[in-house]
Amino acid sequence: MPNMSLTKNPMPHQPADVRNKNFKEVALGYTPEAAIDEAKRCLNCKHKPCVSGCPVGIDIPAFICKVAEGDFLGAYEIIAKSSSLPAVCGRVCPQETQCEQKCVRGIKGEPVAIGRLERFVADYYNENVKEAPKKVESNGHKVAVVGSGPSGLACAGDLAKKGYDVTVFEALHLAGGVLVYGIPEFRLPKQIVQKEIDTLKALGVKVETNAVIGKSVSIDELLDDGFESVFIGSGAGLPRFMGIPGENFKGVYSANEFLTRVNLMKAYKDDATTPVLKAKNVAVVGGGNVAMDAARCALRLGAENVYIVYRRSEAELPARLEEIEHAKEEGIIFKLLTNPTEILADENRFVSGMKCIEMELGEPDASGRRRPVEKPDSEFIMDVDCVIMSIGTSPNPLIKSTTEGLDTQSWGGIIVDEATGKTSREGVYAGGDAVTGAATVILAMGAGKTAAEAIDEYIKTK
Ligand SMILES: Cc1cc2nc3c(=O)[nH]c(=O)nc-3n(C[C@H](O)[C@H](O)[C@H](O)COP(=O)(O)OP(=O)(O)OC[C@H]3O[C@@H](n4cnc5c(N)ncnc54)[C@H](O)[C@@H]3O)c2cc1C
Ligand code: SF4
Repeated sequence: MPNMSLTKNPMPHQPADVRNKNFKEVALGYTPEAAIDEAKRCLNCKHKPCVSGCPVGIDIPAFICKVAEGDFLGAYEIIAKSSSLPAVCGRVCPQETQCEQKCVRGIKGEPVAIGRLERFVADYYNENVKEAPKKVESNGHKVAVVGSGPSGLACAGDLAKKGYDVTVFEALHLAGGVLVYGIPEFRLPKQIVQKEIDTLKALGVKVETNAVIGKSVSIDELLDDGFESVFIGSGAGLPRFMGIPGENFKGVYSANEFLTRVNLMKAYKDDATTPVLKAKNVAVVGGGNVAMDAARCALRLGAENVYIVYRRSEAELPARLEEIEHAKEEGIIFKLLTNPTEILADENRFVSGMKCIEMELGEPDASGRRRPVEKPDSEFIMDVDCVIMSIGTSPNPLIKSTTEGLDTQSWGGIIVDEATGKTSREGVYAGGDAVTGAATVILAMGAGKTAAEAIDEYIKTK
């Protein structure tokens, strides 16, 4: 008999007033009993609507059935056929707009907690299975992957499983892309990402860090050097600023810089070599997941007041509902319908305030969302000593500018054939945020897997 409870088994969390002072993981994960109970809510629907909502097509009812039977390793095997980063995706995928949105249990009540079950299964596997995967016999062909985010890791993993000799070139000193430098420890512990990278290394993938392609060596040089194909998964790490006066003052960060200092360089430690300003009142401009992450990090670094400053209303906030709720519980203050117009500074050029204007919502714009318009004579000054700009990113132009014949969109995204990831350059493939602009982990991973198939086909038929 299925469990007909209308609500999901709750996810245990660290209490809000405890977790807002530490960087440990917020959500603590299901127990085996809670996982089995939740899995029994699945109706094992014949038409599997949830699967159509999963960008990588995990056989969701099949893995959930195994969980209900208590066969957690069997469940892992099913997930692993389609996803190479289940412990990551179970934590950070926006399931509420993907698989769980399509779940029939969501019509009356809450959907099955697919994401929480995926996380449980992946964590169970990681805790209980210690043997490394076996290296596949080499097929003698070399492929280079640029960038070690989810797109690059997925592409490298799938190629290594087919016997390719894969080298991942990563600009930073640690592999993992946004998973290590952007998403904070309290949402995605770094040991989980490291485990995925160790698995790839066990499969034979070589990872060269501190290698900036386009500076250390170009894509053409990689191709001349014996790599038969190159996958570009270089992400979209170039931050945007508003273009308002004062953005050069000390204490203004892009969210990417701020999060990199905190997450990658561990600026929260007293002996950190790359510190971050210890501010009292912090304004984070923007309303997406990145803004929530920056605000919650600022709070954990000891700020007294942290504001999300967003020019539209709560209904238009692009961040995941769960992240907004967590941020509110932790004490983040939402200044909605508010837009900065100037950043102010003291005589030493340190931020001393931010001039803002109140907004109201007008007619819908091209995005379908109501356009924010300024309220006349409503300017005011916010008392802040740090401003973090989180209004979006675009692909870094370095690879485009050093790779002749690589076609890109006007905003920098690499143009590819969607079905294969093939670029305008022979043998060069691309995927993830470098192609789509800032998107999601699962889409980046899916693009890496698609390109791996296409690269295999290209090399085999060349
Ligand atoms: C703070 C933050 C929070 C997020 N939260 C979520 C979330 O909760 N859920 C979700 O699904 N998505 C989230 N995202 C988005 C998600 O992380 C990205 O869509 C995803 O990581 C993109 O993967 P990628 O492989 O395309 O690129 P990235 O993860 O950006 O990796 C690209 C890698 O390429 C390297 N690189 C760049 N240029 C070069 C070069 N020239 N040579 C060598 N290496 C290079 C970079 O250093 C980087 O390591 C978040 C993003 C951020 C910034
Ligand atoms: S739609 Fe929901 S109930 Fe149906 S198979 Fe998928 S997870 Fe189970």
